Amino acid sequence: MPLEGHVEGRYSRAMATNPLGVHSFVWVGGWDREQCESAVASTVEAGYDLVEISGMNPAAIDIEHTRGRLEESGLGATVTLGLPVSADINSSDAEAIERGRAILMGALDVTSGIGADFLGGVIYSALHKYDAPATDATRRNSAAVIREVAQEARGRGVRIGLEFVNRYESNLLNTVQQTLDYIDLVGEDNVFVHADVYHMNIEERNFRDPLLACGDRLGYVHIGESNRGYLGTGTIDFDEVFGALVESGYDGAITFESFSSLVVDDALAVALCVWRNLWDDNMDLAKRARAFMLERLPAS
Ligand code: MN
Repeated sequence: MPLEGHVEGRYSRAMATNPLGVHSFVWVGGWDREQCESAVASTVEAGYDLVEISGMNPAAIDIEHTRGRLEESGLGATVTLGLPVSADINSSDAEAIERGRAILMGALDVTSGIGADFLGGVIYSALHKYDAPATDATRRNSAAVIREVAQEARGRGVRIGLEFVNRYESNLLNTVQQTLDYIDLVGEDNVFVHADVYHMNIEERNFRDPLLACGDRLGYVHIGESNRGYLGTGTIDFDEVFGALVESGYDGAITFESFSSLVVDDALAVALCVWRNLWDDNMDLAKRARAFMLERLPAS
């Protein structure tokens, strides 16, 4: 007889403990008070444990208001962003690096201020199609800023996540191995890999080997389909993805990410090339995504 809660032949753990999240761009294109209230309510209605908030414009976020809505709802939160070209710390432009440092410190203020403990995304580089490779100099400049942010974050109990992305969105970190090497360069123990299977699907040989290679340095996971729409409508092997997450013992957050021209932040839509409409009903999308992920995690 199989153990209670054990899914025959697939998983070694009896229960999934991963908090499940949804990116706020499934609901809203920004984070003013009204958008915050709408996104929090929708995230709760769809059954998720946390909402991922875009920190691209930290000055526009009312920290106290967001903290209050999160506490009322019992919802967790994370903050992610991609740096703009004008604030690229993966560069040799001292003014841009300083602007990037300021954005990251502002996003850290938002993260700790709203009661969250994770700041991730493309924070080590611009979210941008570069026209030349990264250099040792730009990599070191980036790592120096991330080291400073991580040191400040440690005192606030915040973990830093580096989301490696496909070659069209950064020239610095495109794979798990590059990210692990960069984390070694940074040298701070609160810096983790932020993996996104949409990007892995483009750059890695498979999902299992790189996910297992992260070990306990896997800190956050984005689940997205190859077309960034409904899970199960593209080419990603989610049985392999979730099998590897379970095999690795990963117990951190798993957040669904999907983008459509129906709900966009203008700057991010351009950076991510969100040109077409992948869905109309975001509640249906989010509920189906949660069910899809739960089906592939050990029964709780
Ligand atoms: Mn992502």
